[in-house]
Order: sequence, then C-alpha cells, then structure tokens
Amino acid sequence: MTKYVFVTGGVVSGLGKGITASSLALLLKARNYKVFMQKFDPYINVDPGTMNPIQHGEVFVTYDGCETDLDLGHYERFIDEELNYTSNITSGKIFKTVIEKERKGEYLGATVQMVPHVTNEIKNKVYEAGISSKADIVITEIGGTIGDIESSSFIEALRQIQYEQGEKNTFFVHTTLIPYIYGSGELKTKPTQNSVKDLRNMGIRPNALVCRTPIPTSENLKNKLSLYCSVPKENVIDAVDVKNIYQIPINFYNKKIDEIILKQFELPINKANIKYWEDLIKTVDDLKDEIEIALVGKYVELHDAYLSVAESLKHAGYKYKTKININWVDSEELESKDNLEKVFKNASGIIVPGGFGSRGIEGKIKAINFARINNIPFLGICLGMQLSVIEFARNVCGIKEATSTEFDAVTNEPIIDLMADQKSIVNMGGTLRLGNYPCKIKKDTLAYKDYKQENILERHRHRYEFNNKYKEILEQNGMVFSGINEDANLVEIIEIPSHPHFIASQFHPEFKSRPTKPHPLFDSFIKASIDNKKI
Ligand code: GLN
Repeated sequence: MTKYVFVTGGVVSGLGKGITASSLALLLKARNYKVFMQKFDPYINVDPGTMNPIQHGEVFVTYDGCETDLDLGHYERFIDEELNYTSNITSGKIFKTVIEKERKGEYLGATVQMVPHVTNEIKNKVYEAGISSKADIVITEIGGTIGDIESSSFIEALRQIQYEQGEKNTFFVHTTLIPYIYGSGELKTKPTQNSVKDLRNMGIRPNALVCRTPIPTSENLKNKLSLYCSVPKENVIDAVDVKNIYQIPINFYNKKIDEIILKQFELPINKANIKYWEDLIKTVDDLKDEIEIALVGKYVELHDAYLSVAESLKHAGYKYKTKININWVDSEELESKDNLEKVFKNASGIIVPGGFGSRGIEGKIKAINFARINNIPFLGICLGMQLSVIEFARNVCGIKEATSTEFDAVTNEPIIDLMADQKSIVNMGGTLRLGNYPCKIKKDTLAYKDYKQENILERHRHRYEFNNKYKEILEQNGMVFSGINEDANLVEIIEIPSHPHFIASQFHPEFKSRPTKPHPLFDSFIKASIDNKKI
C-alpha cells in the first residue's frame, strides 16, 4: 500500500520546498523504498510551457514530453528516476479536466463545485501517481505558500487524503522560515506559528517542521515551536543555509527526518545506502581547480532560466574535480560589442543553450563565430544548434542570408524551418516536439566518442528543425551531421571535426545529467574546456 508525504510551504516562497522534497525522497530511496515524486502548481496555466523563463525559470521536460516546473529537475537529479506526466499537476490541468467532464455530461444533474469536484480530481492525481508508479511512498510538493487563494483547493484535497488514509499513511512536512533580526540578534518564531495556524485552520496539523534559518536554532526555540505548533520537538528540524544544495540530504539524514517518517508509517528503518552521496559531497567540497565557462543567453538575468544547464556543467566539473564559474553573458548586449576578446578573455569554453524568438540571436551568432574561429570548446543546445548551423552557413558556406523561419518567416534561405507537421498547428501550448526521440550516432565522430554507442534517446523541446536541403553544401564545407533521427530524417547532432571541440544538439542533454553521472556531451565539453584552461 502506498504511503504519502506532502511538503507544504509557509511564510514566504523560495524556501527550498523542492530541495526539501527531493532530499526526503533521496533518503527514503536510500533506505530501499521505491519513491515517486510529484508537484502541484496552483497557477491556471495548463503547464509552464507558455510562461516567460524570466518569470518562472526553466521549463523542465520529462521523457514522456510533459513540460513541467523546474523543481522536477531537482527531483530527477536527486533521486535519479525518470518522472512523467503524473508528476506535475497545475490548477489549469485540473480545471480543464473538470470542465471537459462537465461538458461531456459526466456530472449530469450536479452543480459542479470546488468541493467535491475539483478536490476529487486533485485527490485522483495523488492516488493515480501511487498506482501507476507502484511506489511505496509518493512525495507531493505543493507550490506556493499556505494562505494563497490559489492553493486552497489543493490543501482541502490533502486534508481529505489525510482523513481517508490516516496518520499511518500520510505525513505532512511544513517548510517554513525562521527570520533572524539583526540589531537584536534574535531568531523569531512568530511567522512560523502564524503559518502553522493557517494550515491548521484548513484542517491540517503538520507532522514535521523544516525550519529554514541562517543559524542553528536553540533548544528553547524548538521547544517553543513544538508547543505552539503541536509538533513533537524531535520533528522540528533545522535547515541551515548551505553553500551547495547537494549537502541537504546529508543534513536531513543526520537529523533523522527519514527515520521519523518511517516510524510514523510503521515501516522498517532499513540501512541507508548513502555512501555514494557522501562521496559526492566530499568531492564538491574539495574541488582542486576552477575554470570559467561563458553561457550566452537572453534570459541570463534569472539564472534559474538555465538551471539544468548550469547544474549539468557543475556535474561534469565534479568528475574532473573542477569548479565551474559561469560567466553569464547577455546575448543582446553582445550585439553592440566589437571587442569579444574582452568578453571571453577568461572563458575556457562557450555554451549557447536553448531559447525562443529573435531577440538576442545575432549576439549568440557572434559568440558562436568567436568560438569557432578561435578554437574555443563549444557546446550548442537546441536554439544553440540551430544558430551554429546558421553561423556556419553564413560565414563558411557564403549563404549570407541564412536564417530560421522563426526569425524571418519569408526568408529566401530557410536553413532552419518548421517541420511539415508543425505548419498546421495553431495552439501554442503543448504543441512543440516534446520528450524522448531516438537518435542514431555516426561512428568515428566526436558524438560517438562521447556516447560510445550508436543508439541514444534524448529529450526534446522545439518547433523548428534543420532544413535537409542545405545538408550537402554544409557537408562539403566541413560540417558533420553526426546524429540523425532516422524515422523522421531529422538532424539531431552537428559537429565540426576541424575544430578541437565544436558540437551542438537539437535535443536537450541537460535534462538527463545527474550529479554523480554527468551527461556525455557535458562531460566531454568540460574536459575539452579544462584542456583549454585560460585562468
Ligand atoms: N526556438 C527554437 C525552436 O522552437 C529552439 C527551441 C529551444 O531552444 N528549446 O525550434
């Protein structure tokens, strides 16, 4: 029978609920339980795919093509399990289902209401995750902060689950803030007391408090929180700020929060198999070297817009005991700059990740050109691959007008173009080419050297493709198409063998990198960048 852990947040957003949920999942998995994770996002968008990355951060894509919140990336990186469409549920998805059912007449005769129709749909999503994953424990994070109007139907659904399943099968972790008042030099419990009061007003008593605090809390403070919030003292857990998020599971392990959960569930406390994670932390805390990687993008003001890319760079760095310092380069600002030598002075490698729309693309093309002609290791991802092809077509093959129909719908040189089956699509949401597609790798290429296999599966999120009409001329000029989707005859990987390390993929390798298992494309890019070290 599946047990359920719910992670809520109080006081303010951004307390690290996602990392808390992921860390609990890692520990329960380490104790030999099958875990599954999901996130509830109370906004009305059906998925985050249509949101601006500067507002919302990166869109993470699951293997089955679900566009999800970036916390799903944390989940996959921590528990090393592939999640799926049942892992990210928004109010938009719930309302859509309820309204479609109403139109079909499935509630015939009833007045359709938030309780029970919307709440039942939410409960179904929790139970469905348990059934389809066959997990021992499902961990569900609820986005937003307790007290938000948007999340109230989710909280009511969870209250019902707690009632239906009982305390032996449900565990509520409330993540909260203990602010430090400078001047008086005190930690304050009142915001936590108030947010727990809000939660209890909605019928839920949390089983544990995870207290985000800049310094460890005192016994006195824990006693106070315990008494005022009706939470046993040993279940009041400090989450002191850390330098590196991968440290948090170990901190929780030392505070025995996994044992507290398992005890309540009346499940055996198996031996925790976390040596591999402790080794990772040792590596991360003891990086011998450092390099700078320039990341050229237009959403650089919010680093979370490139979260998985940044993490993937770090993971590869761990393998080589090297700290990766990312130089966030705004592609739009690059457009007016002449002296790129200055911008990339310390860059041992250059990466151009994905993106949408025409703003800033000429700056990215300039960066790609700089990497190509100066033999700087380069990795392009999705839009980064499309622009690498455009740069090569323009500056090596002499096709001066080469561009993508994404930027110029009536161009004479549509070297990147819409796929035929995309041309009739009118809806923007959920209609990109999404999720896993196979790719066949050509032998004797850099891609083959990286992957060491011919058949790979990688995740996608794009609408435009390389236009095969230009393949011959690019090949004649030295570009190699080293990865192809044979079913649809689509280019997946390009490279330039005359360059020390120039490779780009149409898919997103960053979604499959793990802290202890860097992705092959990031691994070789970082290795080449270390060999080319500038500072
Ligand atoms: N905008 C491009 C496309 O839709 C690239 C997308 C991306 O980089 N994720 O094809």
